[in-house]
Amino acid sequence: MVGATLYPLKQPAWIWALLFLNGFVWPHIAYWLAKRSQSPFLREHLHLQLDAASGGFWVALMGFNPLGSCLILMMLWMNNIAAGGFRLFLRGVVTSLAGLLMGLLVVRSFLHWEFNLSSDPVMIYAALPMLVIYPLAIGSITYRFAMQLHSQKELLKHLSRTDGLTGLFNRSYWEERVLALINQTQRSGQPLCLVLLDVDHFKMINDTYGHGRGDQILQQIAQCLQVNLREHELLGRYGGEEFALALANTSLPAALATAERLRQAVATMNFADEHEPRLAPLCCSISLGLAPWQPGISFLEWQRAADQALYQAKREGRNRSCIYQPQESP
Ligand code: GH3
Ligand code: MG
Ligand code: MG
Repeated sequence: MVGATLYPLKQPAWIWALLFLNGFVWPHIAYWLAKRSQSPFLREHLHLQLDAASGGFWVALMGFNPLGSCLILMMLWMNNIAAGGFRLFLRGVVTSLAGLLMGLLVVRSFLHWEFNLSSDPVMIYAALPMLVIYPLAIGSITYRFAMQLHSQKELLKHLSRTDGLTGLFNRSYWEERVLALINQTQRSGQPLCLVLLDVDHFKMINDTYGHGRGDQILQQIAQCLQVNLREHELLGRYGGEEFALALANTSLPAALATAERLRQAVATMNFADEHEPRLAPLCCSISLGLAPWQPGISFLEWQRAADQALYQAKREGRNRSCIYQPQESP
């Protein structure tokens, strides 16, 4: 487009060489420099300002042709505003003015110069591809960024809800979901049960086989619990080697059956070392404490009740499920 506008002005060959270098060589050099740079982002900002300056230069060389000047400055300033907001846009305007002055200086010193205010059909046709392609390119880049932002937001949301080791819900998100279940239960009157699960003698496993193996076992237990539960049964990592399960629409006997199913699944599982398959697999067990939801109690009291039942299971010898007995509370 710049070439079509320069053509009637009969510029010398070195101006055409400069245009070729600016249009077809400089972008590759800029890309190469930005890729090698230690801070590519700042480097690209510098390049965008250089581009704005070169735009100003070509505006002078094109004899202030309105179509060519508007198009090239609009394109370069749009780059600036898209990459660096209003600040970079303003800087772009200033560098364009500097480029324009330099262009005028070059023209006044070495070339014949005249205003080039009318656009012939060749200039108009030469401007069309840029008029069509450039906004489409900016639009598609903006869309890609929006999609990237969306998927990163989703990832962030997932990470903020998930326990990094086991992949289960973390405690805060699990509690958030259970509070919603309590609200639902208060409205519907359906039974709701809480189960706290604790790995037995886990400290000994860590002390004997190391924390790495301990971590693996926690992951394997989490996986085992998950495959033995239905989707609506809300499992989370409650703390260190403790898990928590909220069972909506589940009576106490049904919750006990679920707890026992989980206990047996863990107790009969062979925990092989994933990194050293030749090592003998280990056996583990869990103890479980159950507490049904009672209208009027707080979430904290409900958790304490389940915790008390869990301690009872520990006291009675571990690898068992116990139900909270209200009369036992002090
Ligand atoms: P009990 O049967 O009474 O529950 O005995 P325990 O040894 O399981 O209980 P204790 O509370 O004494 O020890 C829990 C251990 O769990 C101590 C802690 O180092 C370990 N632990 C907690 N979180 C993690 C973890 O993320 N990875 C590993 N490897 N160990 C953990
Ligand atoms: Mg514990
Ligand atoms: Mg334990």
